[in-house]
Amino acid sequence: MSKMGFNTRQVHADLCLNTPEHGAVHTSTTNSVLFAFDDAQGIIDAFQGKKAAHVYSRSSSGSIAALQTILNSLEGGVGALCFATGMAAISSTLFALLKAGDHIIVSQYLFGNTRCLMDTLDDFGVQISFVDVTRIEDVVAAYQPNTRMVYTETIANPVTQVADVSAIGQFCKQKALLFVLDNTMTPPPLFDAKEAGASLVISSLTKYVSGHGNVLGGVVVDLGTFNWCEYANIKPGYQVADQHQWGLTQIKKRGLRDIGATLAPASAHTIATGMETLGLRMQKNCINALKLATFLESHSKVAKVYYPGLANHPQHFIAREMLQGGYGAILSLDLADGIDPVEFINQLQLVICATHLGDNRTLALPVAPTIFFENGREERIKMGISEGMIRLSMGIEDTQDLIDDFKQALAAVGN
Ligand SMILES: *Cc1c(COP(=O)(O)O)cnc(C)c1O
Repeated sequence: MSKMGFNTRQVHADLCLNTPEHGAVHTSTTNSVLFAFDDAQGIIDAFQGKKAAHVYSRSSSGSIAALQTILNSLEGGVGALCFATGMAAISSTLFALLKAGDHIIVSQYLFGNTRCLMDTLDDFGVQISFVDVTRIEDVVAAYQPNTRMVYTETIANPVTQVADVSAIGQFCKQKALLFVLDNTMTPPPLFDAKEAGASLVISSLTKYVSGHGNVLGGVVVDLGTFNWCEYANIKPGYQVADQHQWGLTQIKKRGLRDIGATLAPASAHTIATGMETLGLRMQKNCINALKLATFLESHSKVAKVYYPGLANHPQHFIAREMLQGGYGAILSLDLADGIDPVEFINQLQLVICATHLGDNRTLALPVAPTIFFENGREERIKMGISEGMIRLSMGIEDTQDLIDDFKQALAAVGN
């Protein structure tokens, strides 16, 4: 199965796991919280890790395991853990692997809620350097003897800065640093996080992976590239068996078991169904993004378009090297001086005004007064967010219908 193509694995990777009941092709949703053992020794062995078995569904269950198998296969990893949300995957991973006195190097262009989480980690005594991850020299310069981890996203939202992921991967390898990459924006097959040298890849399944805006979920996949023997924070009790599993073991114990942000079995089913078309949807999302970006760029009422697929994007060459088959489906724009972005969004008829991204429908959002309002103007400037910026999350509609909608909305404003 691991040698087969992406779209094949997407729909077949979990079949090896299950004995389908009555020929059922979809993994059954098992709602049982508890699991019975034939004898007492069985449950003792399971608790002591001598035998793999589900014991309580906060930590593991069959439906979630099937989804983890597919996600792990798509990333080419050595194991995956699902969580209730993308934020649960991120916070569980960071709280499980860091402790007071550690230093981490973090992208200054983070998803807003992850940025706020970093402030919480700071309260718990983790030292954080925010750097421009498009510049490897800035990442290298932030290194300290107590640095444990580099954390970044591939393409930042909403300004679309592209991290120099391969260079960061090489640097982390040299220094034996854990490289944690949020790959929500560029899920496989767009981007191969393993080839780029990431250690752990985290993704919000809520976005492109499930794709339909009807379920929350998150995942962390260990790509098998990191030597956990070199990581100082793994508890001796979790240093068991294959060292490739040490990190996930600690994330599972501290994240799923102790923090408890477990994905619901019904959600796993919804995510698995949505994910069957990830490859197909991503292609269409990216085509729509590139075509609309090209249209907007040439329009007199648009001052600036932010999209890595455009030749004038500051990291276009990095994006071209690292991405396969598309440049992602987020693009942002600034309208020409004097045109009110709120008035413009109100003129859009097909495009929906909503927060969220990675939906099948194209969405528009004024950025500064909504998702980055809490950050304040000064921080917005540091992140490159203009006050009038509009973010678009491209869906899978027919391209011409989207262009027509933007055409009529632009014609209606600023005259
Ligand atoms: C949405 C998002 C998250 C959080 O995911 P949820 O499933 O909404 O918790 C994390 N990182 C990025 C880049 C996101 O876009």
